Amino acid sequence: MTSRIPLVDYLVLDDDPHLVAQECTGCNARYFERRNACASCGRLEFRIVPIATTGEVRSFTIVSLAPSGVPVPFVAAVVDCDGTSVRANVINTPPSPEHVSLGMKVRLATYVVGTDSAGVEAIGFGFEPLEGAPDGV
Ligand SMILES: [Zn+2]
Repeated sequence: MTSRIPLVDYLVLDDDPHLVAQECTGCNARYFERRNACASCGRLEFRIVPIATTGEVRSFTIVSLAPSGVPVPFVAAVVDCDGTSVRANVINTPPSPEHVSLGMKVRLATYVVGTDSAGVEAIGFGFEPLEGAPDGV
């Protein structure tokens, strides 16, 4: 049996993979990386909240230059998931303006980033188009 570990600790892998954010108990600001204090109000307490697995592309850039070893082009985007902005790549679609657009509906998708010598898979995430997704056609 293969074990799977998320590439980032805010990706939860279960039957229905999703992202979780740390939400400030003072001002409800949301963060994906661990924080000691809220950048908005300075409070120290956070609660874990699940993030919607579908969203809309709010902005995107087609990246064609990257450090060697990073396949290009790819689509770097900010996805609005029910009010929470998530930075992620748009995947499972050709990286061209004909296939990615502002306001496009997308859903969370996971993929295997790599496997270590013990067979443990590292799992990353991106967003794929809701319409015309490869497995839906
Ligand atoms: Zn706060």
